[in-house]
Amino acid sequence: MTAVTPYGRKTKIIATLGPSSSSQEVIHGLISAGVNVVRLNFSHGTHDSHKQVYDIVRAEAKKLGRHVAIFVDLCGPKVRIGPLVGGEITLVDGADLFLSYLPKTSTPVEGDNSKLYVEAFDPVVVIKSGQKVLLADGRILLIAGETIGDSVKCTVISGGTLRSRSGISVPDSKLDLPCLTDKDKVDLTWAIKEKADYIALSFVGTARDIQDARTFMEDFGVQIPIISKVERASSLEEIGPIVEASDAVMVARGDLGLELPLECVPAAQRTIINESNLSGTPVITATQMLMSMVHEIRPTRAEVSDVYTAVRDGTDCVMLSDETAIGKHPVQAVKVLASILLEAEKEQLLDKTPPTQKKAAKDKVADAVCFAASNAASKVGAQAIIACTETGSTAALMAKYRPEATVFGATSVSGVLSKMALLWGVEPLLINLSNDSSMEDEISTSLLAARDVYGLKPGSRVVMTVGLRTKKTGSTNVMEIREVPRAV
Ligand code: PEP
Repeated sequence: MTAVTPYGRKTKIIATLGPSSSSQEVIHGLISAGVNVVRLNFSHGTHDSHKQVYDIVRAEAKKLGRHVAIFVDLCGPKVRIGPLVGGEITLVDGADLFLSYLPKTSTPVEGDNSKLYVEAFDPVVVIKSGQKVLLADGRILLIAGETIGDSVKCTVISGGTLRSRSGISVPDSKLDLPCLTDKDKVDLTWAIKEKADYIALSFVGTARDIQDARTFMEDFGVQIPIISKVERASSLEEIGPIVEASDAVMVARGDLGLELPLECVPAAQRTIINESNLSGTPVITATQMLMSMVHEIRPTRAEVSDVYTAVRDGTDCVMLSDETAIGKHPVQAVKVLASILLEAEKEQLLDKTPPTQKKAAKDKVADAVCFAASNAASKVGAQAIIACTETGSTAALMAKYRPEATVFGATSVSGVLSKMALLWGVEPLLINLSNDSSMEDEISTSLLAARDVYGLKPGSRVVMTVGLRTKKTGSTNVMEIREVPRAV
């Protein structure tokens, strides 16, 4: 029997916050319903609006006694249209629509049903007559025609509703734009100041993009873990080095589905998940998981199957975007998602084959100890594994081996607790340790905390991993099998 945790599941849930989910009431509801990580999408909103929800998330998580990670999603070189009159317009089939360049540095002009402004490139230079132009995640299709003055005249082939600052893409044209833009640098500085748990880099092309972001953070003396969003077709050719260089990876199916034929997206998802599982890098499957729930109270059968398949593929986390950001039923969407995950995991955990050989981690000793701990837990029927950790990295290594037992990531560093919220099957556990604590102190304090907070059964077996030199990063080199002490 594995230890009972507040969520009762291994796969973690990420919810994007937006207009539907910025209030204290909804954020409280989302966390209560099982959200482990929230995403602040910097393609929208201002620093002030993000700060407001950031503070609410931290406060509500504390109130509910949950550890919730916050990640700042930098918008990267995504090409977007500018603001629209009234925030939203409807484009009808057959209408003419002009595209013009308006650099971000100019005074913004609102687009309307006859003209849209593009911020990052000049349509006259980039778009050729006859090429496809996709808007709003590909829901709206235009075909480019002639250039007239400073605009490209297009025809709306399939129209629909378009929101301000939606994405625009020209799949037949290659745009080479830097991954960390000037806006991203300002937003990353904000994330550093606010102590975000993760940042996400959009449109990562190569491992070099990740290194550039780390170099930028070096000047501030911090290293926020990086989630690399894989959303370019060309990034798939670089997937091995990208996964190795990242702290987590996202299958960003929205933009990936614009760059690749849609029927190729499921195979790309599997490739990215397999590569990530092999190296033990947490992987997030994102976009349109329960899309119909933006309006409806129930998902479609196909959406349920999609979530189920992502779990079977080996995803660590699933992410909701519009469903929680602008949807009508944000809390219900999380509840539905949680119930599908639980069901999918039942089948996953029935598969008792021992963990397959994975790529060695940089920290080979800790990696070997975690592999051994995962196997030992299944051999002795341990109720839990307790991974004592200073940075969360031992807990991440444990998740790599997908143990059936609940993994408690025990740490005395409070900032590490919320970071571990993203890790598959890991429950963050706060322990109090003094600077001169011994290894035995660390073991007994963690066992008592897990017993008292999560009700681990006295006398049941727990596999412990710890470092001989406690309170030191990268020192995990000991595995022990202990019994949960009886209360005196
Ligand atoms: C995606 O493209 O799937 C994605 C998650 O990125 P964004 O929402 O920033 O477009």
